[in-house]
Amino acid sequence: MSAEKTITNFLLLPEIKIIKHERIGISDNLYTCVKVPKQEYCPHCASGKYWVHEYRWVKVKDEPVRGKQINLKIRKRRLKCKSCSKTFNEPIPGILPRKRFTQRFKRSLLWACKNYRDLKKVRRAYRCSNDFIYKALYETLNLNLKHKLSYAWPSVIGIDEHAFGRSVKARKTRFVTMLVDFKNKRPMELVEGRSGRDLWGSLQHIPGRENVQWVALDLCDPYKKFINEFFPNAQMVADKFHVLRLLNHHIMRRRKEITGNRASWKARKLLLMSNKNLKWNEARALWKYLEDFPELKEVYAFKESLHSLYRTRGYKRACKAFTKLTDRMALSKLKEIQTLRKTLVKWRNEILNYFKTRITNARTEGFNHVAKLLKRNAFGFKSFPNYRLRVLNASL
Ligand SMILES: [Zn+2]
Repeated sequence: MSAEKTITNFLLLPEIKIIKHERIGISDNLYTCVKVPKQEYCPHCASGKYWVHEYRWVKVKDEPVRGKQINLKIRKRRLKCKSCSKTFNEPIPGILPRKRFTQRFKRSLLWACKNYRDLKKVRRAYRCSNDFIYKALYETLNLNLKHKLSYAWPSVIGIDEHAFGRSVKARKTRFVTMLVDFKNKRPMELVEGRSGRDLWGSLQHIPGRENVQWVALDLCDPYKKFINEFFPNAQMVADKFHVLRLLNHHIMRRRKEITGNRASWKARKLLLMSNKNLKWNEARALWKYLEDFPELKEVYAFKESLHSLYRTRGYKRACKAFTKLTDRMALSKLKEIQTLRKTLVKWRNEILNYFKTRITNARTEGFNHVAKLLKRNAFGFKSFPNYRLRVLNASL
């Protein structure tokens, strides 16, 4: 194969022959080409007989090579059908009708949208308008999603919320709710808002609500109410991590009252860690320190009891341990312990369900993290539908 032919094959589309190459500026290349004539058929009547009506020049964008822009100026025929005397354009493989870019260009653009840090960089590299990128990207994402989302509810799901942005008008933070399919390990749906009404409206179209057996959630009342109404056969599991950190805030507050500031005392972290994970000398120092502050010690001891509750094996044993713990809490005079007791009693079944299933909401939190990263990379999203498409198409 001659060098010219190799280059032509590499650079150009099939059925196109190169005539001239010009360089425009530093990085623009213009290839003047002609479409190789081929037997065509009339799109109106499928007749194969025609004459050439006229020649036309079209300019299309092709995929950049080594950072250099490539434009093709192609001469193609406009044909006139002999039997129905309607005119039609000669199609060029690799370019859709009425488009001024090749399919290769679009594919490469989508790759860049996925891999570049933000869409502004894509715009610079591919030298096309914002509108073009947005349209190409979100159309494709929407199409991908349609293939993915056409299935019913699985047996185990997780539900959680995260902040989406601030609503300037209402002057408050907007929230979105993420539902994660634990079985297939992927985000199921993203809903704007976190109230029962928002969720009902956006989730009703998914079939198979009765399939859902287990739902992992944080200690969040609106979700609890919604799940009870929406999934008839579902039981809830309160997330272990969220139960364990219920007292952390109070421990920190009390410690701040003692030391006067946030950071000075080095055992700050030790207080929040599970006592079991401390080294023996650290644990000893900590208990010694706590001797001087009985109230902090009491809160700390209850936090440790929560940790040891989660180390229990078996549902029945956990039930017993749970009752013991709440009974002990009832004797305490501290306000935060009473609040905690109320919360625990209210969520008793959900917390104890963990010992049946060992489900946590970690996967949902993981996808939340992915969503937050996407949001930061894009410097925030204005449109919720676009955000939803990006998150649901993102893979871990
Ligand atoms: Zn015809």
